[in-house]
Amino acid sequence: MKEHAQQARDAGRIIGFVPTMGALHEGHTALIQRAQQNCSPVVASIFVNPKQFGPKEDFSKYPRTLEKDTEKLSATGVNTLFVPEASEIYPQGFSTYVSVEGLSERLEGRSRPGHFRGVATVVMKLLEIVRPHFAYFGRKDAQQSRVIAQMAGDLNLDTEIVVCPIVREADGLALSSRNAYLNAEERRAATVLHRALKEVRSELAAGARDALHLQSVMRRVVKEERLATVDYVEIADALTFEPVTQVRRPCYALLAVFLGKTRLIDNLYVEPATANPEELVFHL
Ligand code: AMP
Repeated sequence: MKEHAQQARDAGRIIGFVPTMGALHEGHTALIQRAQQNCSPVVASIFVNPKQFGPKEDFSKYPRTLEKDTEKLSATGVNTLFVPEASEIYPQGFSTYVSVEGLSERLEGRSRPGHFRGVATVVMKLLEIVRPHFAYFGRKDAQQSRVIAQMAGDLNLDTEIVVCPIVREADGLALSSRNAYLNAEERRAATVLHRALKEVRSELAAGARDALHLQSVMRRVVKEERLATVDYVEIADALTFEPVTQVRRPCYALLAVFLGKTRLIDNLYVEPATANPEELVFHL
């Protein structure tokens, strides 16, 4: 893999990379299509990274659908699929980790201790193996994208991190491999994340800026859904993921919600319009 990457780089080709954990859906294929607009070759990887799952999380039952994934990937025309074994990524004696401090401890990091250390470590390794010019990540995992961009900057990596829009089902549910865990009732209830974010958007569009108020709006919407339980709701600065009191700069409204045992996340990105900072631009 590494020799190929070097040859492609030497030949002046622009390498694009889309790392995934498999169980591919249209969120993943959108990243590949985006990569194909700017890069050739495009490399995709499938690796269910044990180091980003907590001891009580779903590593062993995480959906593994390699055959179907391979078909989907060949339909996208991706050039290379990299599916390493765990022993290839973490050989015996492996003992080096990447920790992005601060950013990794908030929100997802608080709910899932060690998660971003596992993510940053595996992405660092994958970037070093694939040597891409551009690597593509989904805004569905907004904090993860920021952790990786921070790591890439801090460690002078030769890869530009590109963050792409969230792909949703027709009813607004963000596509996720974990949606497969939902039963029919939970699946219907799962639109509550998107509904909560739409209410935040309406409030902001009507002039609300107070973060506590916007959080309470999200909590109320989730509470009304019998099958849903809030893990967190937050209005956070788009760069640091620290809580803000007012929406006056680029921010995320973020939430993590349990539907039964399944934990889902979603977010709304909001930034002041360039022409008129009093107006906001929304990315849902
Ligand atoms: P995963 O396989 O869940 O680790 O995701 C691999 C990549 O796909 C990550 O960069 C995710 O943020 C991205 N991704 C997952 N779901 C979506 C979605 N619904 N829309 C856009 N990107 C997504």
